[in-house]
Amino acid sequence: MLVRIETSPEDILGMQASAGILTARGGMTSHAALVARQMGKVCIVGAGELEIDYKAGTLSCGGTKLSEGDWLSIDGSTGEIYAGAIATQPSDVARWVFAGRGKPRRARSPALREADALGRRDRRLRVRANADQPDQCQNAIAFGAEGVGLCRTEHMFFAPEKIDAVREMIVSETETQRVKALARLLPLQRKDFEGIFTAMGPRPVTIRSLDPPLHEFLPHDDATIKRLAHEMKIPHKRLAAKIESLREMNPMLGHRGCRLGISFPEITRMQARAIFEAACNVARTKRFVPRVEVMIPLVSTQSELVLQGGIVHEVAEQVFAEKKRRIPYLVGTMIELPRAALRAATIAESADFFSFGTNDLTQTTYGISRDDGTRFLPMYIEEDIYPEDPFATLDTLGVGRLMQIAVEEGRKTKPGLKMGICGEHGGDPRSIEFCHTLGLDYVSCSPFRVPLARLAAAQAALREKKK
Ligand code: PEP
Ligand code: MG
Repeated sequence: MLVRIETSPEDILGMQASAGILTARGGMTSHAALVARQMGKVCIVGAGELEIDYKAGTLSCGGTKLSEGDWLSIDGSTGEIYAGAIATQPSDVARWVFAGRGKPRRARSPALREADALGRRDRRLRVRANADQPDQCQNAIAFGAEGVGLCRTEHMFFAPEKIDAVREMIVSETETQRVKALARLLPLQRKDFEGIFTAMGPRPVTIRSLDPPLHEFLPHDDATIKRLAHEMKIPHKRLAAKIESLREMNPMLGHRGCRLGISFPEITRMQARAIFEAACNVARTKRFVPRVEVMIPLVSTQSELVLQGGIVHEVAEQVFAEKKRRIPYLVGTMIELPRAALRAATIAESADFFSFGTNDLTQTTYGISRDDGTRFLPMYIEEDIYPEDPFATLDTLGVGRLMQIAVEEGRKTKPGLKMGICGEHGGDPRSIEFCHTLGLDYVSCSPFRVPLARLAAAQAALREKKK
């Protein structure tokens, strides 16, 4: 069990190695929750009553104190934490998929088979998965995913063999330095994308350009800063000062999303090159052509999409000329800021598809930080101020209203414009029913929630028919 105050990219191997993850800070859509959900790990975030002492290796809560090595059990659905070991068993679906060794099997448990049969004719919503590793893609397909709706490329950067190059890219003081660091990342990203395209076969794969605030990747402990300074051959003090200068008061509303690619176009250029080179390589060696969809995050104006989309098109043409083959592809955007929803008619002129990022859309519509909301949300819900956690179940009246405007406005410009959702609500049954009513084309959720999403999508269609 990995117990942290909050997780950071450095925890990625610990998260992979652990059976469950428990953090004192964070919410439904913070780093630990997203990563754990995609890995299929049990997780509790934002358990604010825990006192965690890294130095002593202890965890205390309400008079109980546990030390490193003691048994601890958690229930990710209810948020309960138990001192001691309790008996567990895999769900019926997971037992079916992961029986035996090797690749996961296609989930054909009796319950799912029945749901599929019921929904096959009427289900309008396709179900995709949020996945950024080939093994997650294999799980997604086994659970019945029909594509990848969100590949968060920043999650690929967490891998130990990449993190130093990423850090070098971030702290580079000149474009030349940055381009050098990006050149180290290019083959690694290309290999990642080849793995994902190969796992997904001819199904659509939506890859998003870099999104999070850059400082999330930076080392904070002195030993790592010293090691990085040594590797980069720059004075330790200069690197420490650079890291300090990147600190933001409100990183979620700061230098992130497409703003990164606009400030540093060479990042988008490297990512686009990795995507198209990988797609061409896979098309050459396999019997299918990958279906590539490039997605630009956190857009609030059409001009941002035009700038970033322009880079993607330019790089695609270069790669196609070099490889002497063309791959069909789409360039679309996330709708995750209220302004983007309100300006959807204009943004649609430059987009091949929309994907609703309802984690950020909820954060920015309510003005509640995704990471800090747990300090008061439980009280709000207990006292009926909010009917439920808007980060778990879509607020159809406010956030949903913005989505409805974006659907109507976007399709006024481009009738039939493809639209999906890739925020965490894409795996929540009631939110899925709302997406069905809105007329979205697909929902995308973590691989382990795909069976539930398929069932919910089928039920939404059947309920509508019955009405
Ligand atoms: C979102 O904002 O809903 C989204 C999918 O993007 P991220 O969670 O990575 O910000
Ligand atoms: Mg987002």
